[in-house]
Amino acid sequence: MTTIDLPSVHPFLGQDIKDHFVDGRWQPAASGGTFETVNPATGHRLASLAEGGKADVDAAVRAARAAFEGPWSRFTPYERQRLLHRIHDLVAANYDELALLETLDMGAPLSRTLGFRSFILEAIQFYASQVVNTNGQTIENSLPGQFTTMTLKAPVGVVGSIIPWNGPLISQWFVLGPVLATGCTVVLKPAEDASLSLLRMAQLLQEAGVPDGVVNVVTGYGQTAGAALAEHPDVDRLSFTGSTETGRSIIRASAVNIKRLQLELGGKSPDIVFADADLDRAVPGAAMAVFNNTGQICYAGTRLFVQRSIQDEFVERLAAFSKSLTVGDPLDPGTNLGPLISQKQLDRVLGYVSIGQEEGAVVASGGARLGGDLAEGYYVAPTVFADVSNTMTIAREEIFGPVVSVIPFDEADEALRLANETPYGLGGAVWTRDLGTALKMTHGIKAGTLWVNCYGAIDPAVGFGGYKASGYGSKGGPEHVDAYLYTKSVTINTD
Ligand code: ADP
Repeated sequence: MTTIDLPSVHPFLGQDIKDHFVDGRWQPAASGGTFETVNPATGHRLASLAEGGKADVDAAVRAARAAFEGPWSRFTPYERQRLLHRIHDLVAANYDELALLETLDMGAPLSRTLGFRSFILEAIQFYASQVVNTNGQTIENSLPGQFTTMTLKAPVGVVGSIIPWNGPLISQWFVLGPVLATGCTVVLKPAEDASLSLLRMAQLLQEAGVPDGVVNVVTGYGQTAGAALAEHPDVDRLSFTGSTETGRSIIRASAVNIKRLQLELGGKSPDIVFADADLDRAVPGAAMAVFNNTGQICYAGTRLFVQRSIQDEFVERLAAFSKSLTVGDPLDPGTNLGPLISQKQLDRVLGYVSIGQEEGAVVASGGARLGGDLAEGYYVAPTVFADVSNTMTIAREEIFGPVVSVIPFDEADEALRLANETPYGLGGAVWTRDLGTALKMTHGIKAGTLWVNCYGAIDPAVGFGGYKASGYGSKGGPEHVDAYLYTKSVTINTD
Protein backbone atom coordinates (compact mmCIF):
# COMPACT_ATOMS: atom_id res chain seq x y z
CA MET A 1 0.00 0.00 0.00
CA THR A 2 1.41 3.44 -0.90
CA THR A 3 2.28 5.40 2.23
CA ILE A 4 1.39 9.05 2.16
CA ASP A 5 2.23 12.00 4.38
CA LEU A 6 -1.30 13.13 5.25
CA PRO A 7 -0.68 16.77 6.29
CA SER A 8 1.11 17.33 2.98
CA VAL A 9 -2.19 16.57 1.18
CA HIS A 10 -4.11 19.00 3.33
CA PRO A 11 -3.41 20.45 6.79
CA PHE A 12 -6.68 19.17 8.23
CA LEU A 13 -5.70 15.54 7.69
CA GLY A 14 -4.52 13.88 10.89
CA GLN A 15 -6.26 16.60 12.95
CA ASP A 16 -9.16 16.73 15.36
CA ILE A 17 -11.51 19.08 13.54
CA LYS A 18 -14.02 20.32 16.09
CA ASP A 19 -15.65 22.92 13.83
CA HIS A 20 -18.35 23.16 11.21
CA PHE A 21 -18.13 25.61 8.33
CA VAL A 22 -20.93 28.06 9.11
CA ASP A 23 -21.42 31.68 8.04
CA GLY A 24 -18.04 31.76 6.32
CA ARG A 25 -16.12 30.71 9.45
CA TRP A 26 -15.04 27.55 11.22
CA GLN A 27 -17.32 27.44 14.26
CA PRO A 28 -17.06 24.92 17.12
CA ALA A 29 -19.67 22.17 17.29
CA ALA A 30 -22.19 22.74 20.10
CA SER A 31 -21.55 19.28 21.58
CA GLY A 32 -17.75 19.43 21.31
CA GLY A 33 -17.89 15.79 20.21
CA THR A 34 -16.04 14.29 17.24
CA PHE A 35 -16.14 11.11 15.19
CA GLU A 36 -13.43 9.43 13.12
CA THR A 37 -13.28 9.23 9.36
CA VAL A 38 -11.04 6.41 8.09
CA ASN A 39 -9.25 5.49 4.88
CA PRO A 40 -11.13 2.40 3.64
CA ALA A 41 -8.00 1.15 1.86
CA THR A 42 -6.20 0.71 5.20
CA GLY A 43 -8.80 1.08 7.95
CA HIS A 44 -6.60 3.86 9.43
CA ARG A 45 -7.90 7.17 10.77
CA LEU A 46 -7.68 10.16 8.41
CA ALA A 47 -9.08 12.80 10.75
CA SER A 48 -11.69 13.35 13.43
CA LEU A 49 -14.60 15.56 12.47
CA ALA A 50 -17.09 17.61 14.43
CA GLU A 51 -20.18 15.65 15.37
CA GLY A 52 -23.03 17.96 14.46
CA GLY A 53 -26.48 17.96 16.02
CA LYS A 54 -29.65 19.97 16.07
CA ALA A 55 -28.03 23.12 17.54
CA ASP A 56 -25.36 23.17 14.81
CA VAL A 57 -27.96 22.67 12.09
CA ASP A 58 -30.07 25.48 13.61
CA ALA A 59 -27.07 27.84 13.53
CA ALA A 60 -26.24 26.88 9.94
CA VAL A 61 -29.83 27.36 8.77
CA ARG A 62 -29.96 30.77 10.52
CA ALA A 63 -26.77 31.77 8.68
CA ALA A 64 -28.18 30.50 5.38
CA ARG A 65 -31.45 32.39 5.92
CA ALA A 66 -29.63 35.63 6.79
CA ALA A 67 -27.41 35.24 3.71
CA PHE A 68 -30.44 34.57 1.52
CA GLU A 69 -32.01 37.85 2.64
CA GLY A 70 -28.69 39.74 2.63
CA PRO A 71 -26.33 41.12 -0.06
CA TRP A 72 -26.42 37.78 -1.94
CA SER A 73 -30.05 38.52 -2.90
CA ARG A 74 -28.84 41.61 -4.76
CA PHE A 75 -26.23 39.80 -6.87
CA THR A 76 -27.28 40.26 -10.48
CA PRO A 77 -27.39 37.19 -12.74
CA TYR A 78 -24.13 38.20 -14.43
CA GLU A 79 -22.47 38.65 -11.02
CA ARG A 80 -23.49 35.10 -10.02
CA GLN A 81 -22.24 33.86 -13.37
CA ARG A 82 -18.86 35.58 -12.92
CA LEU A 83 -18.63 34.06 -9.45
CA LEU A 84 -19.18 30.58 -10.91
CA HIS A 85 -16.48 31.26 -13.49
CA ARG A 86 -14.02 32.21 -10.69
CA ILE A 87 -15.01 29.04 -8.82
CA HIS A 88 -14.41 27.02 -11.99
CA ASP A 89 -10.86 28.34 -12.25
CA LEU A 90 -10.10 27.78 -8.57
CA VAL A 91 -11.48 24.23 -8.61
CA ALA A 92 -9.43 23.54 -11.76
CA ALA A 93 -6.27 24.82 -10.05
CA ASN A 94 -6.91 22.71 -6.94
CA TYR A 95 -8.49 19.68 -8.56
CA ASP A 96 -5.63 17.21 -8.01
CA GLU A 97 -5.73 17.85 -4.28
CA LEU A 98 -9.53 17.43 -4.18
CA ALA A 99 -9.26 14.13 -6.07
CA LEU A 100 -6.59 12.84 -3.71
CA LEU A 101 -8.67 13.79 -0.64
CA GLU A 102 -11.68 12.01 -2.13
CA THR A 103 -9.65 8.87 -2.88
CA LEU A 104 -8.21 8.75 0.64
CA ASP A 105 -11.65 9.35 2.11
CA MET A 106 -13.84 6.94 0.16
CA GLY A 107 -11.45 4.55 -1.58
CA ALA A 108 -12.17 5.10 -5.28
CA PRO A 109 -9.00 4.69 -7.36
CA LEU A 110 -7.16 7.95 -8.00
CA SER A 111 -7.54 7.26 -11.73
CA ARG A 112 -11.31 7.49 -11.21
CA THR A 113 -11.41 10.60 -9.01
CA LEU A 114 -8.89 12.39 -11.27
CA GLY A 115 -10.96 11.20 -14.24
CA PHE A 116 -13.95 13.20 -12.97
CA ARG A 117 -12.05 16.45 -13.43
CA SER A 118 -13.72 17.35 -16.72
CA PHE A 119 -17.17 16.32 -15.45
CA ILE A 120 -16.92 18.55 -12.36
CA LEU A 121 -15.55 21.51 -14.32
CA GLU A 122 -18.17 21.07 -17.05
CA ALA A 123 -20.87 20.89 -14.38
CA ILE A 124 -19.74 24.28 -13.07
CA GLN A 125 -19.71 25.61 -16.65
CA PHE A 126 -23.19 24.22 -17.25
CA TYR A 127 -24.68 25.82 -14.11
CA ALA A 128 -22.91 29.09 -14.94
CA SER A 129 -24.55 29.01 -18.36
CA GLN A 130 -27.99 28.55 -16.81
CA VAL A 131 -27.78 31.65 -14.62
CA VAL A 132 -28.94 33.90 -17.42
CA ASN A 133 -31.42 31.36 -18.82
CA THR A 134 -33.93 31.12 -16.02
CA ASN A 135 -36.63 33.31 -17.42
CA GLY A 136 -40.36 33.57 -16.87
CA GLN A 137 -42.95 33.87 -19.62
CA THR A 138 -45.57 36.26 -20.84
CA ILE A 139 -48.88 34.52 -21.45
CA GLU A 140 -51.52 35.65 -23.86
CA ASN A 141 -54.82 35.62 -22.02
CA SER A 142 -58.48 35.92 -22.91
CA LEU A 143 -59.69 38.09 -20.07
CA PRO A 144 -61.93 40.98 -21.16
CA GLY A 145 -60.12 44.33 -21.10
CA GLN A 146 -56.46 45.05 -21.10
CA PHE A 147 -54.69 42.40 -19.08
CA THR A 148 -51.13 41.21 -19.26
CA THR A 149 -50.06 38.01 -17.52
CA MET A 150 -46.49 37.06 -16.89
CA THR A 151 -44.57 34.67 -14.69
CA LEU A 152 -41.68 35.60 -12.47
CA LYS A 153 -39.04 33.17 -11.24
CA ALA A 154 -37.70 33.48 -7.69
CA PRO A 155 -35.15 31.36 -5.78
CA VAL A 156 -36.82 28.87 -3.39
CA GLY A 157 -34.67 29.97 -0.45
CA VAL A 158 -32.65 27.85 1.97
CA VAL A 159 -31.73 24.44 0.61
CA GLY A 160 -30.73 21.46 2.75
CA SER A 161 -28.60 18.81 1.14
CA ILE A 162 -27.72 15.37 2.47
CA ILE A 163 -24.80 13.98 0.52
CA PRO A 164 -23.88 10.30 0.04
CA TRP A 165 -20.41 8.80 0.42
CA ASN A 166 -20.11 7.03 -2.93
CA GLY A 167 -19.12 10.12 -4.94
CA PRO A 168 -19.22 13.28 -2.82
CA LEU A 169 -17.39 15.50 -5.34
CA ILE A 170 -19.99 14.90 -8.01
CA SER A 171 -22.92 14.87 -5.60
CA GLN A 172 -21.97 18.19 -4.00
CA TRP A 173 -21.85 19.89 -7.41
CA PHE A 174 -25.36 18.67 -8.20
CA VAL A 175 -26.42 20.97 -5.34
CA LEU A 176 -23.84 23.74 -5.28
CA GLY A 177 -24.39 24.34 -9.00
CA PRO A 178 -28.13 25.09 -8.92
CA VAL A 179 -27.84 26.87 -5.53
CA LEU A 180 -25.24 29.34 -6.80
CA ALA A 181 -26.91 29.69 -10.20
CA THR A 182 -30.28 30.69 -8.74
CA GLY A 183 -29.34 32.76 -5.68
CA CYS A 184 -30.42 30.18 -3.08
CA THR A 185 -28.32 29.36 -0.02
CA VAL A 186 -27.49 25.92 1.34
CA VAL A 187 -26.65 23.81 4.37
CA LEU A 188 -24.87 20.62 3.35
CA LYS A 189 -24.53 17.53 5.52
CA PRO A 190 -21.89 15.24 4.03
CA ALA A 191 -21.94 11.49 4.71
CA GLU A 192 -20.11 10.59 7.91
CA ASP A 193 -17.85 8.23 5.92
CA ALA A 194 -16.68 10.81 3.36
CA SER A 195 -16.83 14.51 4.29
CA LEU A 196 -13.38 15.77 3.33
CA SER A 197 -13.77 16.95 -0.27
CA LEU A 198 -16.80 19.01 0.72
CA LEU A 199 -15.00 20.67 3.64
CA ARG A 200 -12.17 21.59 1.27
CA MET A 201 -14.64 22.79 -1.37
CA ALA A 202 -16.25 25.13 1.19
CA GLN A 203 -12.85 26.79 1.69
CA LEU A 204 -12.35 27.17 -2.05
CA LEU A 205 -15.81 28.69 -2.51
CA GLN A 206 -15.05 31.28 0.13
CA GLU A 207 -11.72 32.06 -1.52
CA ALA A 208 -13.56 32.56 -4.83
CA GLY A 209 -15.83 35.16 -3.20
CA VAL A 210 -19.00 33.28 -2.23
CA PRO A 211 -20.52 35.51 0.49
CA ASP A 212 -20.56 34.30 4.10
CA GLY A 213 -23.52 32.07 4.93
CA VAL A 214 -24.36 31.15 1.33
CA VAL A 215 -22.69 27.72 1.66
CA ASN A 216 -22.55 26.04 5.08
CA VAL A 217 -21.31 22.56 5.97
CA VAL A 218 -22.33 20.65 9.10
CA THR A 219 -20.61 17.27 9.52
CA GLY A 220 -22.07 14.41 11.52
CA TYR A 221 -24.30 11.37 11.48
CA GLY A 222 -27.47 10.93 9.47
CA GLN A 223 -29.79 10.06 12.35
CA THR A 224 -28.88 13.28 14.19
CA ALA A 225 -27.46 16.05 11.96
CA GLY A 226 -29.14 14.69 8.81
CA ALA A 227 -32.51 14.23 10.47
CA ALA A 228 -32.33 17.72 12.03
CA LEU A 229 -31.80 19.20 8.56
CA ALA A 230 -34.61 17.14 7.01
CA GLU A 231 -37.14 18.30 9.61
CA HIS A 232 -35.93 21.88 9.97
CA PRO A 233 -38.93 24.22 9.53
CA ASP A 234 -36.86 26.96 7.87
CA VAL A 235 -35.40 24.78 5.09
CA ASP A 236 -37.39 25.27 1.89
CA ARG A 237 -36.00 22.53 -0.27
CA LEU A 238 -34.14 19.30 0.38
CA SER A 239 -31.92 17.35 -1.94
CA PHE A 240 -31.13 13.81 -0.84
CA THR A 241 -29.14 10.99 -2.37
CA GLY A 242 -29.00 7.71 -0.50
CA SER A 243 -30.94 4.57 0.29
CA THR A 244 -34.68 4.23 -0.33
CA GLU A 245 -35.22 3.46 3.36
CA THR A 246 -33.56 6.70 4.46
CA GLY A 247 -35.46 8.47 1.66
CA ARG A 248 -38.73 7.41 3.29
CA SER A 249 -37.74 8.97 6.61
CA ILE A 250 -36.64 12.13 4.78
CA ILE A 251 -40.06 12.39 3.12
CA ARG A 252 -41.78 12.00 6.50
CA ALA A 253 -39.49 14.57 8.16
CA SER A 254 -39.95 17.03 5.31
CA ALA A 255 -43.73 17.06 5.85
CA VAL A 256 -43.17 19.49 8.77
CA ASN A 257 -43.18 22.47 6.43
CA ILE A 258 -43.97 20.82 3.08
CA LYS A 259 -40.41 21.07 1.73
CA ARG A 260 -39.74 20.66 -1.93
CA LEU A 261 -37.81 17.46 -2.44
CA GLN A 262 -35.39 15.90 -4.87
CA LEU A 263 -34.62 12.28 -4.03
CA GLU A 264 -32.22 9.95 -5.75
CA LEU A 265 -32.63 6.62 -4.02
CA GLY A 266 -31.80 2.96 -4.51
CA GLY A 267 -31.80 0.95 -7.69
CA LYS A 268 -31.71 -2.54 -9.13
CA SER A 269 -31.21 -1.55 -12.72
CA PRO A 270 -31.66 -3.94 -15.65
CA ASP A 271 -28.90 -4.30 -18.22
CA ILE A 272 -30.17 -6.35 -21.18
CA VAL A 273 -27.83 -8.05 -23.66
CA PHE A 274 -29.30 -9.47 -26.88
CA ALA A 275 -27.58 -12.22 -28.86
CA ASP A 276 -26.89 -9.81 -31.73
CA ALA A 277 -24.89 -7.38 -29.52
CA ASP A 278 -21.22 -6.64 -30.13
CA LEU A 279 -19.92 -8.79 -27.27
CA ASP A 280 -16.46 -7.24 -27.43
CA ARG A 281 -18.14 -4.08 -26.17
CA ALA A 282 -21.02 -5.56 -24.20
CA VAL A 283 -18.89 -7.80 -21.94
CA PRO A 284 -16.63 -5.05 -20.52
CA GLY A 285 -19.49 -2.55 -20.71
CA ALA A 286 -21.86 -4.71 -18.67
CA ALA A 287 -19.10 -5.66 -16.22
CA MET A 288 -18.12 -2.06 -15.52
CA ALA A 289 -21.81 -1.08 -15.33
CA VAL A 290 -21.66 -2.90 -11.99
CA PHE A 291 -18.02 -2.99 -10.91
CA ASN A 292 -17.18 0.70 -11.40
CA ASN A 293 -16.65 2.37 -8.02
CA THR A 294 -16.62 -1.17 -6.56
CA GLY A 295 -20.33 -1.43 -7.27
CA GLN A 296 -21.20 1.55 -5.09
CA ILE A 297 -23.26 3.33 -7.72
CA CYS A 298 -27.01 3.90 -7.44
CA TYR A 299 -27.65 3.16 -11.12
CA ALA A 300 -25.38 0.08 -11.33
CA GLY A 301 -26.70 -2.47 -13.84
CA THR A 302 -26.87 -5.27 -11.29
CA ARG A 303 -29.53 -7.40 -13.00
CA LEU A 304 -27.80 -8.52 -16.16
CA PHE A 305 -30.35 -10.14 -18.49
CA VAL A 306 -28.57 -12.19 -21.16
CA GLN A 307 -30.31 -13.88 -24.09
CA ARG A 308 -30.17 -17.61 -23.46
CA SER A 309 -28.47 -18.53 -26.75
CA ILE A 310 -25.30 -16.61 -25.72
CA GLN A 311 -25.56 -17.15 -21.99
CA ASP A 312 -22.72 -19.67 -21.55
CA GLU A 313 -20.26 -17.76 -23.70
CA PHE A 314 -21.24 -14.47 -22.05
CA VAL A 315 -20.82 -15.74 -18.49
CA GLU A 316 -17.44 -17.24 -19.37
CA ARG A 317 -16.20 -13.99 -20.89
CA LEU A 318 -17.67 -11.90 -18.06
CA ALA A 319 -15.95 -14.07 -15.44
CA ALA A 320 -12.65 -13.84 -17.33
CA PHE A 321 -12.97 -10.05 -17.59
CA SER A 322 -13.76 -9.78 -13.86
CA LYS A 323 -10.68 -11.80 -12.98
CA SER A 324 -8.55 -9.51 -15.16
CA LEU A 325 -9.47 -6.42 -13.10
CA THR A 326 -6.84 -5.18 -10.66
CA VAL A 327 -8.31 -4.69 -7.20
CA GLY A 328 -6.01 -2.91 -4.79
CA ASP A 329 -4.27 0.25 -3.64
CA PRO A 330 -6.39 3.20 -4.85
CA LEU A 331 -3.26 5.34 -5.17
CA ASP A 332 -1.64 2.92 -7.62
CA PRO A 333 -2.31 4.12 -11.21
CA GLY A 334 -2.82 0.50 -12.33
CA THR A 335 -5.72 -0.14 -9.95
CA ASN A 336 -9.19 -0.65 -11.45
CA LEU A 337 -11.19 -1.19 -8.24
CA GLY A 338 -10.59 0.07 -4.72
CA PRO A 339 -12.11 -1.09 -1.44
CA LEU A 340 -15.69 -0.80 -0.26
CA ILE A 341 -16.33 2.23 1.93
CA SER A 342 -16.54 0.56 5.34
CA GLN A 343 -16.64 -2.62 7.40
CA LYS A 344 -20.44 -2.23 7.50
CA GLN A 345 -20.60 -2.24 3.70
CA LEU A 346 -18.18 -5.18 3.47
CA ASP A 347 -20.36 -7.23 5.85
CA ARG A 348 -23.44 -6.31 3.84
CA VAL A 349 -21.90 -7.35 0.51
CA LEU A 350 -20.47 -10.64 1.85
CA GLY A 351 -23.84 -11.33 3.48
CA TYR A 352 -25.56 -11.07 0.08
CA VAL A 353 -22.91 -13.32 -1.49
CA SER A 354 -23.80 -16.01 1.07
CA ILE A 355 -27.53 -15.55 0.52
CA GLY A 356 -27.02 -15.90 -3.26
CA GLN A 357 -25.24 -19.22 -2.81
CA GLU A 358 -27.83 -20.46 -0.31
CA GLU A 359 -30.61 -19.67 -2.77
CA GLY A 360 -28.90 -21.66 -5.54
CA ALA A 361 -27.04 -19.08 -7.64
CA VAL A 362 -23.61 -20.16 -8.89
CA VAL A 363 -20.47 -18.07 -8.28
CA ALA A 364 -18.71 -17.87 -11.66
CA SER A 365 -15.94 -15.61 -10.30
CA GLY A 366 -15.05 -13.74 -7.11
CA GLY A 367 -17.28 -14.18 -4.09
CA ALA A 368 -14.82 -13.49 -1.28
CA ARG A 369 -12.97 -10.85 0.72
CA LEU A 370 -9.38 -10.25 -0.38
CA GLY A 371 -6.52 -10.85 2.04
CA GLY A 372 -2.74 -10.58 1.87
CA ASP A 373 -1.60 -6.95 1.48
CA LEU A 374 -5.25 -5.92 1.27
CA ALA A 375 -6.38 -7.58 4.51
CA GLU A 376 -6.62 -4.31 6.49
CA GLY A 377 -8.88 -2.62 3.94
CA TYR A 378 -12.45 -3.46 2.93
CA TYR A 379 -11.69 -5.28 -0.31
CA VAL A 380 -13.91 -7.80 -2.05
CA ALA A 381 -13.33 -9.53 -5.40
CA PRO A 382 -15.66 -8.55 -8.25
CA THR A 383 -18.29 -11.27 -8.24
CA VAL A 384 -20.30 -12.81 -11.06
CA PHE A 385 -23.35 -14.88 -10.15
CA ALA A 386 -24.77 -17.16 -12.87
CA ASP A 387 -28.04 -19.13 -12.88
CA VAL A 388 -29.86 -16.36 -11.07
CA SER A 389 -33.62 -15.96 -11.24
CA ASN A 390 -35.31 -12.59 -10.95
CA THR A 391 -37.01 -13.67 -7.72
CA MET A 392 -33.83 -14.45 -5.77
CA THR A 393 -32.85 -12.03 -3.01
CA ILE A 394 -29.66 -10.99 -4.84
CA ALA A 395 -31.79 -10.00 -7.85
CA ARG A 396 -34.35 -8.08 -5.80
CA GLU A 397 -32.40 -6.14 -3.17
CA GLU A 398 -29.81 -3.45 -3.67
CA ILE A 399 -26.38 -4.84 -2.67
CA PHE A 400 -24.25 -1.74 -3.38
CA GLY A 401 -21.12 -3.78 -4.03
CA PRO A 402 -19.32 -5.44 -6.97
CA VAL A 403 -21.84 -8.23 -7.45
CA VAL A 404 -23.65 -8.90 -10.72
CA SER A 405 -26.47 -11.40 -11.27
CA VAL A 406 -26.77 -12.97 -14.72
CA ILE A 407 -30.39 -13.85 -15.51
CA PRO A 408 -31.26 -15.61 -18.79
CA PHE A 409 -34.20 -14.68 -21.06
CA ASP A 410 -35.52 -15.91 -24.42
CA GLU A 411 -37.64 -13.16 -25.99
CA ALA A 412 -37.64 -9.35 -25.86
CA ASP A 413 -41.09 -9.24 -24.23
CA GLU A 414 -39.91 -11.56 -21.47
CA ALA A 415 -36.81 -9.40 -20.89
CA LEU A 416 -39.01 -6.34 -20.63
CA ARG A 417 -41.37 -7.99 -18.16
CA LEU A 418 -38.48 -9.17 -15.98
CA ALA A 419 -36.70 -5.80 -16.22
CA ASN A 420 -39.79 -4.05 -14.86
CA GLU A 421 -40.45 -6.57 -12.08
CA THR A 422 -38.76 -4.42 -9.45
CA PRO A 423 -39.88 -1.63 -7.14
CA TYR A 424 -37.00 0.50 -8.47
CA GLY A 425 -36.68 2.58 -11.64
CA LEU A 426 -33.36 4.42 -11.71
CA GLY A 427 -31.33 3.28 -14.74
CA GLY A 428 -31.08 0.59 -17.35
CA ALA A 429 -29.48 -0.34 -20.66
CA VAL A 430 -29.83 -2.48 -23.73
CA TRP A 431 -27.05 -3.92 -25.91
CA THR A 432 -28.14 -4.79 -29.46
CA ARG A 433 -27.34 -3.99 -33.10
CA ASP A 434 -31.05 -3.82 -33.93
CA LEU A 435 -32.53 -0.32 -33.74
CA GLY A 436 -36.07 -1.67 -33.41
CA THR A 437 -35.10 -3.79 -30.41
CA ALA A 438 -33.26 -0.86 -28.82
CA LEU A 439 -36.29 1.42 -29.19
CA LYS A 440 -38.76 -1.21 -28.03
CA MET A 441 -36.75 -1.71 -24.85
CA THR A 442 -36.11 1.96 -24.11
CA HIS A 443 -39.80 2.75 -24.59
CA GLY A 444 -40.70 -0.22 -22.40
CA ILE A 445 -38.29 -0.02 -19.47
CA LYS A 446 -39.81 1.96 -16.61
CA ALA A 447 -36.78 3.91 -15.39
CA GLY A 448 -35.54 7.49 -15.44
CA THR A 449 -32.20 7.10 -17.22
CA LEU A 450 -31.45 4.66 -20.06
CA TRP A 451 -28.50 3.84 -22.29
CA VAL A 452 -28.08 1.91 -25.53
CA ASN A 453 -24.78 0.13 -26.25
CA CYS A 454 -23.12 1.95 -23.37
CA TYR A 455 -23.71 2.31 -19.64
CA GLY A 456 -23.49 5.16 -17.17
CA ALA A 457 -22.55 7.93 -19.61
CA ILE A 458 -23.68 11.17 -17.93
CA ASP A 459 -23.44 14.85 -18.79
CA PRO A 460 -24.41 17.76 -16.51
CA ALA A 461 -26.49 19.23 -19.34
CA VAL A 462 -28.69 16.11 -19.39
CA GLY A 463 -31.22 15.46 -16.65
CA PHE A 464 -30.61 12.34 -14.58
CA GLY A 465 -33.26 11.02 -12.24
CA GLY A 466 -35.37 8.13 -11.09
CA TYR A 467 -38.86 6.69 -11.18
CA LYS A 468 -40.86 4.52 -8.75
CA ALA A 469 -38.95 3.78 -5.50
CA SER A 470 -35.78 5.27 -7.00
CA GLY A 471 -37.07 8.76 -6.28
CA TYR A 472 -37.92 11.86 -8.25
CA GLY A 473 -36.49 15.15 -9.40
CA SER A 474 -33.75 15.63 -11.92
CA LYS A 475 -30.04 16.20 -11.38
CA GLY A 476 -28.49 18.07 -14.27
CA GLY A 477 -30.24 19.64 -17.22
CA PRO A 478 -32.22 22.91 -17.31
CA GLU A 479 -35.10 21.35 -15.34
CA HIS A 480 -32.72 20.85 -12.41
CA VAL A 481 -32.01 24.57 -12.17
CA ASP A 482 -35.70 25.38 -12.60
CA ALA A 483 -36.48 23.22 -9.55
CA TYR A 484 -34.50 25.67 -7.38
CA LEU A 485 -36.89 28.43 -8.41
CA TYR A 486 -40.56 28.89 -7.79
CA THR A 487 -42.96 30.53 -10.16
CA LYS A 488 -45.22 33.49 -9.44
CA SER A 489 -47.87 34.30 -12.00
CA VAL A 490 -48.78 37.97 -12.15
CA THR A 491 -51.84 39.34 -13.91
CA ILE A 492 -51.87 43.10 -14.47
CA ASN A 493 -54.97 45.11 -15.32
CA THR A 494 -54.03 48.24 -17.25
CA ASP A 495 -57.56 49.14 -18.35
P1 ADP B 1 -25.84 4.34 3.96
O1 ADP B 1 -26.61 3.59 5.02
O2 ADP B 1 -25.35 3.44 2.91
O3 ADP B 1 -24.81 5.26 4.51
P2 ADP B 1 -27.84 6.31 3.73
O4 ADP B 1 -28.92 6.49 2.76
O5 ADP B 1 -28.25 5.94 5.12
O6 ADP B 1 -26.88 5.24 3.16
O7 ADP B 1 -26.89 7.59 3.81
C1 ADP B 1 -26.86 8.63 2.87
C2 ADP B 1 -26.81 9.96 3.59
O8 ADP B 1 -28.00 10.08 4.39
C3 ADP B 1 -25.65 10.13 4.58
O9 ADP B 1 -25.22 11.49 4.53
C4 ADP B 1 -26.28 9.83 5.92
O10 ADP B 1 -25.62 10.46 6.99
C5 ADP B 1 -27.66 10.41 5.74
N1 ADP B 1 -28.72 9.85 6.61
C6 ADP B 1 -28.80 8.60 7.11
N2 ADP B 1 -29.92 8.47 7.87
C7 ADP B 1 -30.56 9.66 7.85
C8 ADP B 1 -31.77 10.17 8.43
N3 ADP B 1 -32.56 9.42 9.18
N4 ADP B 1 -32.11 11.46 8.17
C9 ADP B 1 -31.34 12.23 7.38
N5 ADP B 1 -30.19 11.82 6.82
C10 ADP B 1 -29.79 10.55 7.03
